[in-house]
Amino acid sequence: MLNRTLAEQISDLQKGEYSCSELTEAYLIRISETSDLNTFITVADDALENAAHADELRASGDDRPLLGIPVAHKDIFCQKNVRTTAGSRMLDNFVSPYDSTVIENLNAAGTVSLGKTNMDEFAMGSSNENSYYGPVKNPWRTSCVPGGSSGGSAAAVAARLCSAATGTDTGGSIRQPASFCGITGIKPTYGRISRWGMIAYASSLDQAGPLARTAEDCALLMTHMAGHDPRDSTSSPEPVDNYLESLSKPVSGLKLGICREYLEDLTPEIRAVFDEFVGELVSQGAETREISLPSSPLAIPAYYIIAPAECSANLSRYDGVRFGYRCEDPKDLDDLYRRSRSESFGAEVKNRIMVGAFALSAGYYDAYYNKAQQIRRLIKNDFVDALSGVDVILGPTTPGTAFPIGEKSQDPLAMYMQDIYTISANLAGLPAISIPAGFVDGMPVGVQAIGNYFDEATLLAIGHQYQQMTSWHQQEPEMNS
Ligand code: GLN
Repeated sequence: MLNRTLAEQISDLQKGEYSCSELTEAYLIRISETSDLNTFITVADDALENAAHADELRASGDDRPLLGIPVAHKDIFCQKNVRTTAGSRMLDNFVSPYDSTVIENLNAAGTVSLGKTNMDEFAMGSSNENSYYGPVKNPWRTSCVPGGSSGGSAAAVAARLCSAATGTDTGGSIRQPASFCGITGIKPTYGRISRWGMIAYASSLDQAGPLARTAEDCALLMTHMAGHDPRDSTSSPEPVDNYLESLSKPVSGLKLGICREYLEDLTPEIRAVFDEFVGELVSQGAETREISLPSSPLAIPAYYIIAPAECSANLSRYDGVRFGYRCEDPKDLDDLYRRSRSESFGAEVKNRIMVGAFALSAGYYDAYYNKAQQIRRLIKNDFVDALSGVDVILGPTTPGTAFPIGEKSQDPLAMYMQDIYTISANLAGLPAISIPAGFVDGMPVGVQAIGNYFDEATLLAIGHQYQQMTSWHQQEPEMNS
């Protein structure tokens, strides 16, 4: 039953092939057997109780589709009475007094939480090596990283430790780990899913989304995650499409934009996977058009000003006073602030706070922050132009496959290059999906499709139609080193 997709599990539960309790128990056993993957920071202690309750509800006629489906949540989503750490020593002792909207909505849909997944500290990273709780191992090759920052969620889905998981994506943190772990992940349009109760990294870029085995499973979760929330002022009032109904939309007639700049530096192996992906959609009747996003080489430099600037503001609330880590025996208030922060933030977080504070400082603001915002507008304009002639833009998700743990951790620039294809969609606020499309040297590779604003339905439909004809998403990792 653990090898079934979420959609298949829904029908199995409806037919009574097994119960929510049996499914939940099987996941909990597998989570404990694979604890050296380090995918979970906290395993829920009430999962079996909640699963038993879901079984009772089902027996009494409750037919909500997600009732009793075991999911895992990135440890960035506040969950009531559950430790919520954001992968940081700063929040090691933080128990949230309330549920984030994402968790509230998924609970209301009937899902059972299996626990909170490992992540890069405050979602800053591309390998999950920046977690206070240690790195996560990639189930496809345990000496390799799972990607980041939603590394625990991606690895847990790939290793069959949950039916699906939540994640967040500020510059690629859903799509890059989905690509590295051979699963499907979608970052919706900025504002599609509420950020309320989601620990902030860079507020103008952060967006939640699902990580799951298939596009259909992502659609099932999106149906409940998306929607307006008055508690998040950037949440969109735009009505939510019927993602499930749209899955059956054929790809024939769709215009696929192939971005010239994205293909320039691709390795021949990744290029071959990409070409095969495009070939499959063309054989289903889609057409291709070459497009250009001329400002895309500026995306990484602009992002690494904007994201740190926002993070330096967001993380100033961790002062050791109201919640979070507090140093021992502070001499005075200044010592309390200084030591609480320096003892509990990791190196990458400190690095970004300093870069961000510098970029925002008087005298440098125009040269860095304002300039980065101008570049952001150019990038957005490129996309708006390109998407006036095509339905989606296709490209690779990542420049390579998952790399060995430790290989890039001392080289921030090499690490930042991981997000070269994913970051632009965040800067422009556009939705983007990563779909498993093949393997290079035994490691999974994803292809990315970027869509127009609020057109998640087309991205999910492309993923679903592709997955009807291919089996990359069905491959199961062997968990060897
Ligand atoms: N790797 C990028 C960063 O470190 C993106 C992270 C994310 O999307 N949360 O900022």
